[in-house]
Amino acid sequence: MGEVTLKGVSAAPGVVAGAAVVLDHRATRDKRVVSPAERRDEAKRAVEALRLVASDLETIGGELRDAGRRDEAEIVETGVLIALDPQLTARVELLVTERGMHAADALWEAADHTALELSQVGDPTLALRADDVRSVGRRAAGRAAGTNPLASGGVLIANTLGPADVAELAPKVTGIALAAGGVTSHAAIVARSLGLPMVVGLGDGLGQVADGQEVVVDGDLGVLVANPGPERAASARAHAEAIRTARALAIERSAEPARTMDGRRIRVLANASTIAELEEATRQGAEGVGLMRTELLFLDAAAWPSLGEQVACFRPVLERLVGRTATVRIFDFGGDKTPPFLRGIAARGVEVLLDAPDALRIHLRALLEAAEGTELRILVPMVTTADQVRAIHRLLDRPVVVGAMIETPAAAENARAIARESDFLSIGTNDLTQLVLGLDREQSRKAPVLDVRVLRLVAEAMRAGNETGIPVDVCGEAASDARAMRVMVGLGADELSVAAARVGQVRQWIRELDYATCREESGKLLHEAGHASGERV
Ligand code: PEP
Ligand code: MG
Repeated sequence: MGEVTLKGVSAAPGVVAGAAVVLDHRATRDKRVVSPAERRDEAKRAVEALRLVASDLETIGGELRDAGRRDEAEIVETGVLIALDPQLTARVELLVTERGMHAADALWEAADHTALELSQVGDPTLALRADDVRSVGRRAAGRAAGTNPLASGGVLIANTLGPADVAELAPKVTGIALAAGGVTSHAAIVARSLGLPMVVGLGDGLGQVADGQEVVVDGDLGVLVANPGPERAASARAHAEAIRTARALAIERSAEPARTMDGRRIRVLANASTIAELEEATRQGAEGVGLMRTELLFLDAAAWPSLGEQVACFRPVLERLVGRTATVRIFDFGGDKTPPFLRGIAARGVEVLLDAPDALRIHLRALLEAAEGTELRILVPMVTTADQVRAIHRLLDRPVVVGAMIETPAAAENARAIARESDFLSIGTNDLTQLVLGLDREQSRKAPVLDVRVLRLVAEAMRAGNETGIPVDVCGEAASDARAMRVMVGLGADELSVAAARVGQVRQWIRELDYATCREESGKLLHEAGHASGERV
């Protein structure tokens, strides 16, 4: 078979060639019925597959725990309990012994059945568990069929993935291709942080890719190529090598400051929420953390986490930032980051927290305790009014640097008043773009931050910060996009906070910029775009 190219959208840069690890479609359904004489052995094989999955997950959980990634370890370890669940085991055995199903199919079927039951109970926590059960079934079926995706690693092929999935699978995965998904989904953000090439929106055609088939994921062009010819495979390998070399160069130059050719100093910070990201960012010369997404550590929480739980989660990351900038964003729950206990809420970010003042007080206390010794900056998400920032200041019992995210149209419009209550501003171009243009964050096929309607609000926020004399940071994806970052610098950004894997590249881009030219270009862009759309910018 020749090359088959599927077009999608680039969600994380880079190119990789490798064997496909198909996660959620049954590529190898075996319709033959197992003969009665063989059913006992087949059932044993199925149960053994569940045991092997439990042991795989235990090992992975242990490795994550040893690496200080306790939150991710817990997510993985839930799977151990599911794999050893007697009810699931009994169901699998029955399907083999009574219906003559092959082990892999019985595992799929039993997991599907159990998952369906869980999702129908009407309890959001259990509904969420349904996906975990399917994931265990999928792994066990792979084990029974003699394939263990996690053992061999490769290019992950799936319909959609959550941020926890990516973090869990990342150690073995070299690239990701999704049938659905959006470029600013949190799964994509985690992939970019870890430097994994990712293409999303590949559509139903992705279902034709078989487990083990050779593929190339081109995260730069946004395509997946199945059965790549020798030339393409070689070029993908060369590209991967070039990325490795660029990374090595970034590490070599990590001590050199990021200063434009005409002398403007821009601080480059990292968007990092885990030790793995922080370590990579530091290697590449990050001057601290510009965005720690605390909510990502509690996406599976069944209730507001206690003080102790939070300190235990945040401390391992923050203790590595002693003496350095640690910008910690308070929980940004809501939208695609809604834990089970908040299912159904309409609010997002600071509004959710202000509605739960006791939980917010505990959260702030935990952050102050866990960030002891760091240059802590508290960042407030989804701000819409200056009052919200004032409320956070009031709840802190000592002077702490507090900044506001400018990521809603209301925040950009109220930027002056918000700036007066804030010690710094941080522009979240991901949400701002989606909210201004009315796109769906999960499904949007591209994030056009340079659209004049978005750019005008970004410029407004920059002006407000600059005139108030407080630093302005850009922490959305625009900060690490080759074209958009020039515009952000030109509009007056003092700091760029970018995914760990992009830190070195962004620092290098800054060294190649001329600030005066960037200012002129961004001014022109605003003017021309405003002119073209008939709007005043
Ligand atoms: C943003 O919206 O740009 C941002 C940085 O926040 P998050 O991506 O976590 O929503
Ligand atoms: Mg946001």
